[in-house]
Amino acid sequence: MSMEASQYDNELTYQTYRENDDLEAFHEAYDGAVQSIKADLGESYPLRIDGKPVTTDRSFSVDSPGDTTRQIGTFAVGDSSEVDDAVAAATAAQPAWEAMDPSSRAELCTRVADQLRDRKFEFAATLSLENGKTRIEAMADVDEAIDFLEFYSREITAADGYRFDTGEPTPGQHTTNLLRPYGVFGVISPFNFPLAILVGMTTGALITGNTVVLKPAEATPLVAHKVMDLFEEAGIPDGVLNLVTGDGPTTGQPLVEHEAVDGIAFTGSRAVGVGIERTFQELGKRGPVIAELGGKNPVIVSDEADLDAAVNGVMKGAFSFAGQKCSATSRVYVYENIVDSFTDRLVEETENLVVGQPTDRETFVSPLIDDEAVDRYREISTQARSDGTVLTGGSVISDSDLPDGRYVEPTVVTEIPHEHSLAREEHFVPFVTIHPVSGLDAGIEKSNDSEFGLCAGLFSEDESEIEQWFDEIEAGMCYVNRKQSATTGALVQAQPFGGWKFSGTTGKFAGGYWYLQQFMREQSRTRVR
Ligand code: NAD
Repeated sequence: MSMEASQYDNELTYQTYRENDDLEAFHEAYDGAVQSIKADLGESYPLRIDGKPVTTDRSFSVDSPGDTTRQIGTFAVGDSSEVDDAVAAATAAQPAWEAMDPSSRAELCTRVADQLRDRKFEFAATLSLENGKTRIEAMADVDEAIDFLEFYSREITAADGYRFDTGEPTPGQHTTNLLRPYGVFGVISPFNFPLAILVGMTTGALITGNTVVLKPAEATPLVAHKVMDLFEEAGIPDGVLNLVTGDGPTTGQPLVEHEAVDGIAFTGSRAVGVGIERTFQELGKRGPVIAELGGKNPVIVSDEADLDAAVNGVMKGAFSFAGQKCSATSRVYVYENIVDSFTDRLVEETENLVVGQPTDRETFVSPLIDDEAVDRYREISTQARSDGTVLTGGSVISDSDLPDGRYVEPTVVTEIPHEHSLAREEHFVPFVTIHPVSGLDAGIEKSNDSEFGLCAGLFSEDESEIEQWFDEIEAGMCYVNRKQSATTGALVQAQPFGGWKFSGTTGKFAGGYWYLQQFMREQSRTRVR
């Protein structure tokens, strides 16, 4: 028997327009926003410390993945000196921020959510241009950010800031038990959900009474500035939320190492996340490293599966946002008696996918984020050709109909041993390997034979297979018969997001009921009367 949770209504913008038979209005609003964002690109942006703009003598430029001739902007680089200033501002602002009633912090975050809802098309257009998401993917990123803000606001308010009067355990002793913030959090975010994940981690830290120094991914600083605007317009006090931009070694590392930074909320690659944990240990830092890391997400296709659903689910899971999701489907274990028919259909449907500009309505596979990702794609495609069979894809696209962007073909590979690095490591490009298996036990064994444990999928209509799989699969997010995507796409509250093993450090998931408490530590207070 399980307890029922009170329903949270997710922001579902695209679906709502579709249900209201009003998709033209969605497209019109998005296309209009793209035009006006394009007109505003190319500015210079400072750091934002203690409520003030701070310029430095170093900067970096960001271009648009779909058209690298388009400049997004020039952004100041903050190094250890500016990180010091930002941490000092956050430290000074923290006591007053903690002293605020939790419901007032929640009201501020709700105001940010309201603003974001009003400006959702502007934010979606910014994401398409800066990070290369299609309109539907970009709007889902915006929706999720709104959900994080509202869900965490609701939770902290319902919990009254996590404070319990525990009465008089023995005569004369009056006790209170409460959670208190650690102090100052560094929030370090990835490029691939540059709005939702950035907002989710930042809100988690702030709403629990911590102050924040935020370091967004170097590919996506513009949307971070727009988030700062929202918080400032909502009235966040100076110093409570500070923004320093720059790359990992220059800006992120000093933030992690700073002695006055009590905890880190990080989402990104396993290598960097594990490095941050190690730094905390080496420096003897005691606060939490709340880290969501990579994945190598397996799917099993049983001979009891609806093959249409399986083909569609694997294709969408592997190739939406060009495979640049931690939850992307990347290895597929198919019962050997159907592996040929499954693979043929997957290849056929993959070849029909439209690779194109993120802002074009019909695009499904969007461009890669940076040149390093294109190089990685080239490298693994070459390796796949020599060590296995590339059935479709494997090439960088140079098409005169497309602008000068980072476009690559969605790639399906077979004949790669399960033990091969192509089937074990995360590559973060549109690349999936197919492996025959003798049945469910073998499929589960191979699925679990990974250091990652983020998402997993199963396609089967057989109830006993489904039950066995749910019981034995080692993954944080498990999806059965998900035609819309075998492993990607999670809703705040209903599908909390996080990983087992090397896919996460805490076992508590973003958008779930046990997320916020991680930003706090317990204190019991006893007074004798
Ligand atoms: P990344 O690890 O390269 O970078 C993430 C952030 O860490 C960036 O802001 C980067 O500048 C910073 N960074 C890099 N080196 C650093 C250092 N030495 N010290 C401090 N900060 C440093 O990741 P990415 O390429 O931006 O994102 C893709 C990765 O994120 C993938 O591995 C993906 O699986 C993972 N991811 C996980 C989840 C999840 O919820 N589990 C969600 C999204 C992305």
